[in-house]
Amino acid sequence: MRVFHKISEWQTARAAPDFAGRKIGFVPTMGALHAGHRALLERARAENDIVVLSIFVNPTQFNDLGDLTRYPRTPEADLGLAEGLVDCVLSPNAGELYADDYHYRVTENELSLRWEGEHRPGHFDGVLTIVLKLLNLVHAQRAYFGEKDWQQLQLVRGMARALFLPTEIVACPTERAADGLALSSRNARLSPAGRVQAALFPKILRESATADAAVPLLQAAGFGVDYVVDDENIRLGAVQLEGIRLIDNARL
Ligand code: AMP
Repeated sequence: MRVFHKISEWQTARAAPDFAGRKIGFVPTMGALHAGHRALLERARAENDIVVLSIFVNPTQFNDLGDLTRYPRTPEADLGLAEGLVDCVLSPNAGELYADDYHYRVTENELSLRWEGEHRPGHFDGVLTIVLKLLNLVHAQRAYFGEKDWQQLQLVRGMARALFLPTEIVACPTERAADGLALSSRNARLSPAGRVQAALFPKILRESATADAAVPLLQAAGFGVDYVVDDENIRLGAVQLEGIRLIDNARL
């Protein structure tokens, strides 16, 4: 497994003959890797010749500075999880990725303004911009994204279509803990009691009769509710618990 911190070194390696004619599967992440990320890497491993993982805590998608500084960072454990599954780890620094000072960015003007976008202004501009930069650096045949971040997945797919990107966007199902909570790097910040309580979020999201009916049930269970909405056959929700934001969705 080769680890690249400098973009120029990655670009030199990417242009070398050992990449020629081989299928590349790419998994972009913000690190603090867990079994949800591992499922994406395993899928990429099974479907491609070369697996590239990126680890970059992308500052432009954090609308809340505290959330950015508190975001968990576990670089050594991440390399341990990746070992044996991943060929190349791309972990560039923000100065190099944003040499333009974020003067150039991707903006979507419709879906990105709803739900997550309404509660996290600018979030999806940051997401789409970093995903485009990374897709352009990696030149993968396929890139893997989790359905846990449903709205992000739709927006990345939309961007790939709108901008004629050559990379296929592959959706992967949400990995959950035994009690139903979607695995997330932020779960590590919950207290033991909060972690138990958090499992009520997917349960209520899934079991309530309507999106509106879920709101008072979630509030009674101790969550602050940002939104619960039904979008065709998917119910999307975001809640706050112990100052930590959890998002999830359920198929109706
Ligand atoms: P993140 O590091 O949280 O930005 O996530 C990197 C990728 O992993 C995104 O495509 C996420 O949707 C995906 N992901 C995160 N958590 C899960 C999960 N529990 N199950 C499946 N995919 C996930």
